[in-house]
Amino acid sequence: MPHLFDFSATDGSDKDLLGGKGAGLARMTSLGLPVPPGFTITTETCRLAMNDGRVPPDLWEEVDLALARLEDMTGRSFGGGPIPILLSVRSGAKFSMPGMMDTILNLGINDDVLETLVEWSGDPHFAWDAYRRFVQMYGDVVLGLDASLFQDVLLELREEAAVADDSELSAEHLEAATRRFQAIVEERRPGGLPTDPREQLQGAITAVFSSWNTKRAIEYRRINSIPDDLGTAANVQMMVFGDLGDDSGTGVCFTRDPGTGARLVYGDYLPRAQGEDVVAGIRNPLTLDQLGELHPKCHDQLLEIMSGLETHYRDMCDIEFTIERDVLYILQTRPGKRTAAAAVKMAVAMVEEGLIDRATAVGRVAPASLEQLHRPRIADHVKLSNAFATGVAASPGAAIGKVVFSSDEAVIEERKGEAVILVRPETTPNDIHGMAAAVGILTSQGGKTSHAAVVARGMGKPAVTGAAKLVVDVEAGMARAGGNEIRTGDLLTIDGSTGNVFIGSVDVVAPESPPELQQLLGWADEIRVLQVWANADTASDAAAARNFGAQGIGLARTEHMFLGERLQVVQRIILSDSEEERATALKELERVQIGDFEGLLEAMDGLPVVIRLLDPPLHEFLPSRFELEHEMRLDAKAGRPIDDLQSMSEHVARWEEDNPMLGLRGVRLGLMVDHLYRMQARAACHALVTRLQAGGHPRLEIMIPLVADVEELIRMREMIEEEVAAAAAESGLELKVPVGTMIELPRAALTAGFIAKAADFFSFGTNDLTQMTYGLSRDDAEGLFLRDYMDQGIFASNPFQTLDRAGVGRLVRVAAKEGREANPALTLGLCGEHGGDPESIAFVHELGLDYVSCSPPRIEGARLAAAQAALAAD
Ligand code: ADP
Ligand code: MG
Ligand code: MG
Repeated sequence: MPHLFDFSATDGSDKDLLGGKGAGLARMTSLGLPVPPGFTITTETCRLAMNDGRVPPDLWEEVDLALARLEDMTGRSFGGGPIPILLSVRSGAKFSMPGMMDTILNLGINDDVLETLVEWSGDPHFAWDAYRRFVQMYGDVVLGLDASLFQDVLLELREEAAVADDSELSAEHLEAATRRFQAIVEERRPGGLPTDPREQLQGAITAVFSSWNTKRAIEYRRINSIPDDLGTAANVQMMVFGDLGDDSGTGVCFTRDPGTGARLVYGDYLPRAQGEDVVAGIRNPLTLDQLGELHPKCHDQLLEIMSGLETHYRDMCDIEFTIERDVLYILQTRPGKRTAAAAVKMAVAMVEEGLIDRATAVGRVAPASLEQLHRPRIADHVKLSNAFATGVAASPGAAIGKVVFSSDEAVIEERKGEAVILVRPETTPNDIHGMAAAVGILTSQGGKTSHAAVVARGMGKPAVTGAAKLVVDVEAGMARAGGNEIRTGDLLTIDGSTGNVFIGSVDVVAPESPPELQQLLGWADEIRVLQVWANADTASDAAAARNFGAQGIGLARTEHMFLGERLQVVQRIILSDSEEERATALKELERVQIGDFEGLLEAMDGLPVVIRLLDPPLHEFLPSRFELEHEMRLDAKAGRPIDDLQSMSEHVARWEEDNPMLGLRGVRLGLMVDHLYRMQARAACHALVTRLQAGGHPRLEIMIPLVADVEELIRMREMIEEEVAAAAAESGLELKVPVGTMIELPRAALTAGFIAKAADFFSFGTNDLTQMTYGLSRDDAEGLFLRDYMDQGIFASNPFQTLDRAGVGRLVRVAAKEGREANPALTLGLCGEHGGDPESIAFVHELGLDYVSCSPPRIEGARLAAAQAALAAD
């Protein structure tokens, strides 16, 4: 197979081979759009290069032939005259990784070509700017020199010339910059910068391939779950120049608003600028309307192309364009990144416009992003006149956090549990880890299409960009705007929906989600097979869950009902010597539990509510011996009696365990301190009766935690049936209460065929099942080493977030199969945190369970993920 394809040689349908950018360039060429000519070296070639540790030697022959075709087609010459061709060499993987990998512009320049370029353009400023940019990018990208070496030179020259922007430097200054850049390169990499254009091209292509494995690219792939072995394509394209005088410029546009989804074109345009100046947010750009005033013809042509591309791709497109001397060129197009709200709005609108069908619309929205829709915004009563700064509303939502000025700091603080706002003049791909760690991002430069804005939207984080009055001094750890300043560690509130920034923390309110969401979720509900239930412990959580579309409560954890003031009552039940005191305490607890359960059953009237009997490790209920002894010492010193404390301490000592997580918890506690579980069963039956008598349709189910052996379940079931029978006899009502068990121990999964005979339902408690299968304590592991495990690639993902298919998943599969064989009426659900994770939901769909149960804010996402799983399986 050839190593490369001209843009005009294919129709651009093979994204795997050409990468997203190459496929788009070929597609646009075939549609007759004004794309500068060029060719794409395939991802296959990159994979060969990665495997062999060097590019295939026959590649260069093919490149020479492609260059000859390019010269023929354009009537220009590479490395010669009278009209020189300069080239851009750009990476482009199958999945878009904006700014993650490397690009080299203006390649093919040396002192001779410079002369030709001056003659051709009549503009020495332009020619020297191209030259210095080339040396700078080659030094940075190909030779790996520190970008700040070059930035420092430019800074000095700007100061010397007393200008704010590189574009205002004179041709002489740019010549000086070029020479100093060359000296910097020569000093650090003698002979590293070839003057022969062909050698430059070979160096650049090789570097683009290696950029697949830079730290930031690897990090980006990890965050976005992109496989490491795809490789990137390299696109070699004739340069067009946005900096060739005042009738030139460069820009980025979107066919709809990426922030809101509104059907309005959106774009940034920078006159007299090249390539990355817009994305880097170095100057604040003009709008498309302003572009229309400067270049009416190009503007109209661009709008026509935008609309054509959107119809062609049936999706919102993100387009890079350049105007060279009043002629428009299109340099890239791809499906644009968007906020969750915009994704929902566009998907529904496009169905209404007849552009896509419902299934496509359901597939267009990332399930995990729906949580963003419930992100807070700054309350209306907060006075805008108090804003510290205002910028571009780049990614919606409000965020409150402590100010940090570097990405490394952001990571350090986040690991300490701090919420941080990353404040920068602009962000670059090297800030990806800091942006991931921050709760919000604020920059003083750049528009809605700057790196900071694009990446923040992709991550679903609030961001304000281009806050022009803000002066950020990273070195000094402070930023100033108007007469105010903020320093590292200060609290800051940003609102990415309006662009406002406030010092300190201001009131935020929950938003209303877009009306289109219900429509989209309705379509998802028609498609999905899996039901979505909720994990909710209180009546108000249950009501919220029901609002989000929960079809039941899959897990109501009663231990949370035992905390606070009730804790002492529980302690009396466990520790008391006196039967009488214990009985009073139990009665007291029963009374409050009845109220808890009534509330849940009422909120979910008509839908199943699975109440799980008590399950915390015992030590969470008992006072700490350490503290008791401390108190005793204080009392003894003060001459107070210590008998009670003494006796309590002895009792606690009796129950003490070395390893409480593997100890007397769940059903074991239920069997050993038997009045506790019985009290809970009685309270639940009582609530059931009350709700029935009130005319409701309560559907109570009771679940036993931590069963390892069927005998544990049999005994608990007998006990519960006694209570149900008693409540039925007393009320004269017919009561039906299904009894089931968590499957959260490997032994339970492996003996599911026996357990199923005593159960009406199973609920896979995959949090504990993961801990027990891996032999890992989650809290300890996540705090201590799990991140390192993932950084080092030992674990591909966190098994507590995404269900481990091979191990834990296998236990679930075996248990589901053998459980159903033994008891065909068995209902199967999954209630671990995995129940809200889209990847895990896809697996649960494959396994054919009946439902997943997750926390209320994740329910909408789970409904969507379940539909996507059903679509993927078709
Ligand atoms: P990314 O993948 O980060 O978008 P690109 O490879 O698209 O990076 O290019 C970086 C910048 O260089 C973009 O702004 C792009 O428009 C510009 N650029 C790329 N190729 C050319 C070209 N042939 N002529 C002019 N500008 C170009
Ligand atoms: Mg691009
Ligand atoms: Mg558990």
